Amino acid sequence: MQTIRGFRDILPEHIRLWQKVETLAYELFAAFDYREIRIPVLEKTQLFARSIGEATDIVEKEMYTFEDRNKEKLTLRPEATASICRAYIQHKLYASDPVRKFFMTGPMFRRERPQKGRYRQFYQIDAEVFGIASAFVDCELIFLLNELFTRLGLTCLTAHINSLGCPDCRPAFTQSLLGFLGEKKQDLCDICQRRMTKNPMRILDCKTQTCQEVLAGAPATVDHLCPACEDHFHTVKTTLQKQGVDFFIDKSLVRGLDYYTRTAWEIQTTALGAQSAVAGGGRYDGLVAELGGPDTPAIGFAIGFDRLVEVMEQLEQLPEEPGLDLFIVALEDPAMEMAYHLSCDLNQAGIRTGTDFRGKSLKALMKRADKRNARHVLIAGPSELKDKALILRNMVTREQTTIPMDQLVPALKKILQTT
Ligand code: AMP
Repeated sequence: MQTIRGFRDILPEHIRLWQKVETLAYELFAAFDYREIRIPVLEKTQLFARSIGEATDIVEKEMYTFEDRNKEKLTLRPEATASICRAYIQHKLYASDPVRKFFMTGPMFRRERPQKGRYRQFYQIDAEVFGIASAFVDCELIFLLNELFTRLGLTCLTAHINSLGCPDCRPAFTQSLLGFLGEKKQDLCDICQRRMTKNPMRILDCKTQTCQEVLAGAPATVDHLCPACEDHFHTVKTTLQKQGVDFFIDKSLVRGLDYYTRTAWEIQTTALGAQSAVAGGGRYDGLVAELGGPDTPAIGFAIGFDRLVEVMEQLEQLPEEPGLDLFIVALEDPAMEMAYHLSCDLNQAGIRTGTDFRGKSLKALMKRADKRNARHVLIAGPSELKDKALILRNMVTREQTTIPMDQLVPALKKILQTT
C-alpha cells in the first residue's frame, strides 16, 4: 500500500524543523496576543464556494468535494480563513469582544498538480485578526511574519505587497483594465478570456508568457485607489519603512482568492523554483458580512509550512533530536520486568528514559543506546541482579558507577537530574 498522489508522510527523521518552526511561531503569536483556534477539516462546500469565489482556481477545480450519505455536499478545507470566519459568526464571538486575534496550524487540501513544494495535502500556519480596520494591523502581521523568518535565520525571502482597493474603487479599476485589454482579448489564454467576464483582476496574476506580454503597461490597482485606500496603503508602506522591514511593491500581485480588499502580500523565495510563495496574506473587510455576520474588518495570512521547511532544509542541517537521559540495558527476563518499572518511574519523574524488551545481547543494546543518543546507560544483566547492584555508565565521560538496587530510584534521580 502506498500514499495517494500528492499526499505524503512526514517521518520522525524529518520532524525536527517542523517542531522548531511551531515552537517559535507559537511563542511569537502568544507574545502578540494571538490565541489558538482549532477548526474542522470538513465543512459544507457552500462555505468555500461563497467565500473563496466561484470563479477561482481553488473552487473551480481544486477542492476535494464529495456527497455525504445524507446527500449533503462537503469539502475538505482548502484554506482556513473561511472556516475561521464561520466560527467567528457561528459562536457570535463578536458579541463579547469584536476584536479577536487567532492563530492555527493544520492540514489543507487542494487537488493541484503535485511537484516540489506543491502537495495535495499541505500544512499552513495561519493568523487572522477580526474587528480592527487600522493599517497598523496590516503592518503587525507583516512584521510578525518578518520577525518569525528572521528568528528562523531565513534571509532569502522578500515581501511583495500591493493594495487591491475596496468596493468603492475596484469598479473604476476593472473598467480601466477591461478597456486596456479590449482589443487584445484574443491574445489572452483561454482561462484569462473567461476571467474577463468573471473576475478580470485575476488576469494580472496569470503566469502564461503570452498573457504577461499582453499585460505590459496594464493599469494597476494602486493607481486607482480611492483616498481612503490610498491613505491606508501609505500608512502600511511608511510604517514598514520606519521599522526597516524590506518590501517590494508588486503591482501584479492580486492573490488567487476573491475576498481580498486593500493590502495583499506574499513572502517569496527564489530557493524553491516555480513554487516561490512561502506565505501570503491580505485584508478581507467584506467577508464576515458576506457570510452573514456583522460588518467586520478582518485580515490574515497563511504560511506554507511544507515550503518553509523545504527552504530551511536547504540552509541548515536537521537539528539533532534531544537524546535520552538514560537507556536501560535489560538482559533476560527478570531484568526486563525491573527495567519496565524503573523506566516508568523515572519518566514519571521527568527523566527521559528508554529501554528495550527484546532480550537482545549486551552489544546490540549498547548500540541502540548509542543510536538513541543516551547520556547514560544502566546495565542490568543476570550477574548484576544476583549481586543486587547495577552498573551506571556515563556515555560521555565513560565513567562507571555501581548503584545498589535498593537505592536505584533516588540515586538515579540525583545523578541524572544534575548531570
Ligand atoms: P494561499 O492560501 O493560496 O494564499 O496559500 C498560502 C501559502 O500556502 C502559499 O504561499 C504557499 O506557501 C502555501 N501553499 C498553497 N498551496 C500549496 C500546496 N498545494 N502545497 C504546498 N503549499 C501550498
